[in-house]
Amino acid sequence: MHAHTSLTTFLPSRRTALLASVGLLAGSSAVWAASKGRAKASEPGVWPRALVVPGGVVRLSLGPAPERPVAVAGEVPLLVLGDMIEWTAVVGIPLSAPLGAAHISVAATADSPARQVAYTVADKRYREQRLTVAPRTVDLSPENQARYERERDHQAGVMATFSTPLPARLAMQVPTPGRRSSSFGLRRVFNGQARNPHSGMDIAASTGTPVVAPLPGKVIDTGDYFFNGQTVWLDHGGGLLSMVCHLSAIDVQIGDSVHTGQRVGAVGATGRVTGPHLHWGVMLNRSMVDPALFLPA
Ligand SMILES: [Zn+2]
Repeated sequence: MHAHTSLTTFLPSRRTALLASVGLLAGSSAVWAASKGRAKASEPGVWPRALVVPGGVVRLSLGPAPERPVAVAGEVPLLVLGDMIEWTAVVGIPLSAPLGAAHISVAATADSPARQVAYTVADKRYREQRLTVAPRTVDLSPENQARYERERDHQAGVMATFSTPLPARLAMQVPTPGRRSSSFGLRRVFNGQARNPHSGMDIAASTGTPVVAPLPGKVIDTGDYFFNGQTVWLDHGGGLLSMVCHLSAIDVQIGDSVHTGQRVGAVGATGRVTGPHLHWGVMLNRSMVDPALFLPA
């Protein structure tokens, strides 16, 4: 079946509303859909793999509807994929999410009454990681604190991106070869001081190793940031973003379209690092989620 659906944007009302026409092929829907019932556990061959914990992803069945439903978590628009036979919300769960009962709100259109779809966030114990880094990157000078706050505010705007077309597939290519650490979610202690948990995947690779796009996308931000170093943000559509950090080189510009496997930069050791490696982050509905869930097992 080839559903050709008119999609009302999920952007906040202060933004210009737009209508986009999105074609979905049944073949691509098999990649991520197929889950009947709510909060299904992991299914082989379906990406992202569901893992209903902080930093994970939940796939919520929304049932049939003639038009793509509008789903939000609070104010944040959610990725809804499928066709009129079966719609599914693919929802990123923040690392800071409380355990237990959670819900999204779903409506036929942005203006119609919403119903709640519930799920339960299970516990996951992330280990602690103690790191020693340059003291100036832990106890920030007033200048560096001001720089960090500017960059944080700028990146919050980047992270709020929700664009169409929606992604045609969600299974990603790893952005650089190398040993993948399972350090996502680690509670980090820098020089004895607790800091934000580790919100991405670190891949061991030497400086200069090519870094490629994990999915087709558009370059929405590049910069040299205090903590993340040289960084490229890619928008894959529907609130699915990815970031690659600590680069030694950036080979793309804002506005560029890239295909899966296209080089965007090179591994480096810029920003707050203990050595050269790639930090790869995947963001869904403004939540950093475990990139491993998007990779073939
Ligand atoms: Zn990292």
